[in-house]
Amino acid sequence: MADPCNLAPYAAHDSSTRGRIHPESSPRYRSAFQRDRDRIVHSTAFRRLEYKTQVFVNHEGDLYRTRLTHSVEVAQIGRSIARTLRLNEDLTEAIALAHDLGHTPFGHAGQDALNRCMTPYGGFEHNFQSLRVVDHLEEKYAQFAGLNLTFESREGILKHCSKSNARQVGMVGERFLNMTQPSLEAQLVNLADQIAYNNHDVDDGLRAGLITIEQLCEIYLFREQYETVVSSYPKLNQRRTIHEVVRRMINRLVIDIVETSEKNLAEAMPENIETVRQHNGPLICFSEEQARLNHELKHFLREKLYRHYRVMRMTLKAERILSELFEAFLGEPRLLPDEQYELTLKLPTTDQARVITDYIAGMTDRYALSEHQKLFSPPVPTV
Ligand code: MG
Repeated sequence: MADPCNLAPYAAHDSSTRGRIHPESSPRYRSAFQRDRDRIVHSTAFRRLEYKTQVFVNHEGDLYRTRLTHSVEVAQIGRSIARTLRLNEDLTEAIALAHDLGHTPFGHAGQDALNRCMTPYGGFEHNFQSLRVVDHLEEKYAQFAGLNLTFESREGILKHCSKSNARQVGMVGERFLNMTQPSLEAQLVNLADQIAYNNHDVDDGLRAGLITIEQLCEIYLFREQYETVVSSYPKLNQRRTIHEVVRRMINRLVIDIVETSEKNLAEAMPENIETVRQHNGPLICFSEEQARLNHELKHFLREKLYRHYRVMRMTLKAERILSELFEAFLGEPRLLPDEQYELTLKLPTTDQARVITDYIAGMTDRYALSEHQKLFSPPVPTV
């Protein structure tokens, strides 16, 4: 299928894709990147994102963001910017929807716990796990394991990677060894991700009562929009005021990326995606001033929200649950369901640990809680 006609020369073009690991004929009515996006939407890991969280554990309430709604928000922000900069919207959407597929239950706490458990066996990195999901773990197609996505989608999914892991994944890991750049679409999703989580953590944090408007007014990004909204609409109720502030914050960040990146692209004038990859730094960026303001907000959220005692209690519980599951399964693989147990047979401990980690990382918050309960809280029989 032909590329969209208004695509910039430096965008990812269907016609210049580095292709799939298992060659396939082109889809008849879709681009290669549309096919990637569609495969991601139909994957099991994508559906599980509904029951995985970032900061708030899923069962705490129905109003908080989940990994699924987060991924949809990243796709929305990414696509708006992609269209304005004439980048490939389908690829942007595919990367955005897949970027968190490898996340563990319980957000960052779960990831840290698994990484600690896996330290003797090669560690655990969530971006690398997202790539494992799309390359190996999804079981959907007759001819290959995984989703067999294009190089460009895989390149975008592998946002960060240690050098030792980069050496294991062939061409898609090379940029971490030779320090080159990914496509502009991948650079864009990285920033859309930051915009989405900073702003929805403000919104969710306020809703949970863990942070207050007074505290947030210490932060320029929030105060600037809050003062404008309150002076224009003094009688607005709090819920609508907060939403109005958050949407304006997001808008300001989007405009900043568009304008800064347009300037960068006009200066660098990359000929095509290969020139983008060889450029001496990312071209899709926030302005310096905006990056400083974002940092201020990020620092605030770390101190006041992620380290709030109620969040810390949740974090500690999450770490304990995943570590105990890991230790129990590794100590006695027969505790695993048949399917996973069979995968561990005749494997050295390091590979058994990887099978167990894949199993735990794939769990939703509530599934991890229920597995933990089954293993550690047996009902006491009445006599
Ligand atoms: Mg994310």
